[in-house]
Amino acid sequence: MKKNVLLINPWITDFTAYDFWLRPLGLLYAASILRDRADVSLRLIDCLDRFHPGLPPPARSKPDGRGHYLKLEIPKPDVLKAVPRRYSRYGIPIDLFLTELGRGPVPDLVMVTGTMTYWYPGVQLAVELVRQKFGTVPVILGGIYATLAEDHARRFSGADMVLPGPAEKKLLPAVGEIWGNGAVRDADFPSFRSLPRPALELLGDKRFLPLLTSRGCPFTCTFCAGPLLYDRFEQRDPAGVVDEIADAHARYGTRDFAFYDDALLLKHGSHIVPILEGVIDRRLPVSFHTPNGLHIREIDRALARLFARAGVRSIYLSQESTDPDVIREACPKVGRGDLETAIGHLVQAGYRREDIHVYLIAGLPNQGVKSITDSVRDVRRLGAKPRMAYFSPIPGTRAWRDLIAQGRLKKDADPLIFNKMVFPYLWSDISPEDYGELQALLNE
Ligand code: SF4
Repeated sequence: MKKNVLLINPWITDFTAYDFWLRPLGLLYAASILRDRADVSLRLIDCLDRFHPGLPPPARSKPDGRGHYLKLEIPKPDVLKAVPRRYSRYGIPIDLFLTELGRGPVPDLVMVTGTMTYWYPGVQLAVELVRQKFGTVPVILGGIYATLAEDHARRFSGADMVLPGPAEKKLLPAVGEIWGNGAVRDADFPSFRSLPRPALELLGDKRFLPLLTSRGCPFTCTFCAGPLLYDRFEQRDPAGVVDEIADAHARYGTRDFAFYDDALLLKHGSHIVPILEGVIDRRLPVSFHTPNGLHIREIDRALARLFARAGVRSIYLSQESTDPDVIREACPKVGRGDLETAIGHLVQAGYRREDIHVYLIAGLPNQGVKSITDSVRDVRRLGAKPRMAYFSPIPGTRAWRDLIAQGRLKKDADPLIFNKMVFPYLWSDISPEDYGELQALLNE
C-alpha cells in the first residue's frame, strides 16, 4: 500500500534573510530517491515559499524571482544577546503551517531538512509541531545541519533519526528500517550522475528553479563546507542537464534557473560549455543565475561570450579577497590579476561592469579590517560591485579548528553563535566599530 511521506523545509531564524533563489534542493533529491525506490505519495510543506497561496498578496519579488521573506521578530536567544540587531523567524506564519499539516493525509514518515547549522531553531519548531499534530510519526532529519552538526542534531532536533551526508547513502536503509523489509527496493546509486532528477514537481511556485550540475569542489578553502559535504567532485552528463532545463521549461514555463554548484566552471570545456551550447541549440528562452559564485580563473574570452549568448544574466564571482596573504592562507583558487582579466572578458562579451558582483569574505580568523576595506576598494577600482560574505565558522573546517585552537571558540559551542552576523561581537579581530566603518564604505 502507498505510504504517505511529508517533507518539510523549515523556517530560517536569523538577523537577516533574503530569498536569493533559495530552494530545498537536497530535500527534493531525497524525495526523488524515495519516489524511485518505494511506493510513496509525497507532499512538501515549504516554510520558505514566498509565493504560497495562503500568504497575503502580493509576494514581494524581483522579476527574476528573488525577494524578501515574510518575517516575524522573535526573542533573541541568550547566546546572541551581544549582537545589537533584531532577530526574526522568516517564512510562512505558524497558523498557515498548521493548516498545511492538517490538509494532507496522516503521514507514515516525515522528512525534515536543515540548511545552516545556526538555523536549527526552525528545525526544532517544525519537528515539535509535527509531534503535536501526529504524535509518534517517525521523523528523519537530513541536510547540511545534520551533516555538519550531527551530535547537536541528534540531541536537540527532536528527530528520531539523523542522517548526515548525501541522501542516497543512508536514506533507503533508514526508511527500510522504519517501514520493514520490502517497503523499499534495493538501490545502488554509485555516483551523483546516477541519481534521479530532483522532485521539482513538489514545489509550489516554479518561476525559478534550482539546478545542480556538479557536486563537491576539489579546492579546500579553509572556511568552506563544500569539501566536508561531498567526498569527491562529480559532474553530471551535460546532455542530461540540458534535458532537465528543457523539461522544466516545457512543463512549468520556468525561465529562470539558479546554478547551485560550488564549482560550476571547472573542466568547462567538457561541462558548462556543452550545457550552454545545448541551451542555445535548443533555443530555450531561459536565463541563468550564479548565486554560489564562479571560479574566476576559468573565465576566458570564449566562455564569457558563451555566457552572454546562453542567457547567463547575473554574474557572481568568487574572489574572497585581494589580499595576497589571505588568498595564500585561506583560498588559493585565485591568482594575482585573475579578477581583472575575467572582468575584462565579461565586459567585452557585453556585461556592464556595475552588474558584475564580486564576493569578498569578511571576518576570517586573523583577518584585519584593512585587508577587507582594501579588497572592497580594489573591486570598485575595476568598476565591479563588491558583495560581502560574512564568515561563519563551519564545524569541521580549518578556520573553525583554528578558532578553537586559539581559544576563541569552544568545540561544543551552540551552533547559534556560528551565525554570520556574530563575528564583530564575539570572536573576530574586527570590532563593532570596524564593522560599522565597513558598512559605511559599502554604502558609499
Ligand atoms: S570556497 Fe569555493 S573554491 Fe573554495 S572550497 Fe569552497 S566551493 Fe571550493
